[in-house]
Amino acid sequence: MKRILITGSGGQIGSELVTSLRERYGADAVLATDIRPPSKTVCDSGPTAILDAQDQNAVAQATVAHGTDTIFHLAAILSAVGETNPDLAYQINMGTLRSVLEVARLEKCSVFTPSSIAVFGPTSPKENTPQNTVMRPTTIYGVTKVAGELLCDYYHRKYGVDTRGVRYPGLISYGTPPGGGTTDWAVDIFVQAVKKHSYACFLKEDTTLPMMYMPDAVEASIQLMEADPDSLIHRNAFNVTAMHLNPQTLTKEIKKHIPTFQIEYKVDQHRESIAQSWPRTIDDSAARLEWGWSPKYDLADMTEEIINELSRSV
Ligand code: NAD
Repeated sequence: MKRILITGSGGQIGSELVTSLRERYGADAVLATDIRPPSKTVCDSGPTAILDAQDQNAVAQATVAHGTDTIFHLAAILSAVGETNPDLAYQINMGTLRSVLEVARLEKCSVFTPSSIAVFGPTSPKENTPQNTVMRPTTIYGVTKVAGELLCDYYHRKYGVDTRGVRYPGLISYGTPPGGGTTDWAVDIFVQAVKKHSYACFLKEDTTLPMMYMPDAVEASIQLMEADPDSLIHRNAFNVTAMHLNPQTLTKEIKKHIPTFQIEYKVDQHRESIAQSWPRTIDDSAARLEWGWSPKYDLADMTEEIINELSRSV
C-alpha cells in the first residue's frame, strides 16, 4: 500500500481514515475523493478531488492519475436513509462498488470495502453471531451489503483482485456527523449530553447492538489492508466488534461524567425494527485469528475520551 485513493472520504469514517492514512503513508500519497466538496481540514492536508464513484471512467482517470495501488471504497447510502429511498441505495451501493471493482481489476489495485452487521437478518443467530451463518437481511442496505461481499469474493476468485473488507458494527465518533444509520443515536447521545445534559433516544432502552469507537474502526481497516494475504481465509468480510451497547448501558456510563444527564425515549419504529433485525453480539474470532484484530477501546475509555474532547469544543 503506497498510493491510496478513498471514495466517500467526506463521511463519518472517511474524514478520520484520511487523517490516519496521511499520517502513516504521507499526505501526498492519499487522494481523498467524494461527490461533495471536501472539508477545509481534508483539503488543507493533502490532495482531494470531487468524484462520483458511480462514474467508472472518472474513477479510472483519478486512479491512474494518482498512481493508485489501493482503493478504500467508502461511498454508500446507509441503513436508515436507504429504507426511505431503496432505489437510490441500490443504485449508489451497487453502482459505485461495481465501477470501483472494475477499475481495480483493470488497474491492478487492492480494494477495501466495508460491509456491515446489516448483512444479518431476523433468521441469523442474535447472540455471538458467527462469521459464517444465515444472511437474509430485511433492509435494502443489508441486501446491497450481502451482494457487495459476494461481488468482492467473485472479483478475487475470478480475476485475482485483492479485495478485503470488514463488517463494521455501529461506529461511534464525535468529529463528523453520522450519515443516516440506525446506530446514529450512539453518536448523538454524546453531543446532546455535553450540550444539553439530555437526549431523546430513537431506540428502546434495552436494544443492544455491536459497536466500536472510530479509532478502532480506522485501525481495523488499515491493519486488514496491511495483513499478509496468505493468512487471510475470509477476505470479504470479517466480523469485527469492540463492545455491545444499548442506550441504558451508555447512559449509565455517561452519568459517571455528567451526573445530571437525563435520557428519554421517543422510539422511532422504523429504526427500532431495523435494529431488532440485527445481531445483539457478534463473534469476531476469525479476524482475531487471521490478522490479529484486537480493539484498544472499551466502553469506559471511549466515553471518557469523547466527553473530554466534546467538552473542549462546546
Ligand atoms: P457516510 O454516509 O458518513 O459517508 C458516505 C460518503 O459517501 C458521504 O461523504 C457521501 O457524500 C459519499 N457519497 C455518496 N454517494 C457518492 C457517490 N456516488 N460517489 C462518491 N461519494 C459518494 O458513511 P460512513 O459512515 O462514512 O460509511 C462508510 C462505509 O462504511 C459505507 O460503506 C457504510 O455502509 C459502511 N459502514 C458504516 C457504519 C457506520 O456506523 N458509520 C457501519 C457499518 C458499515
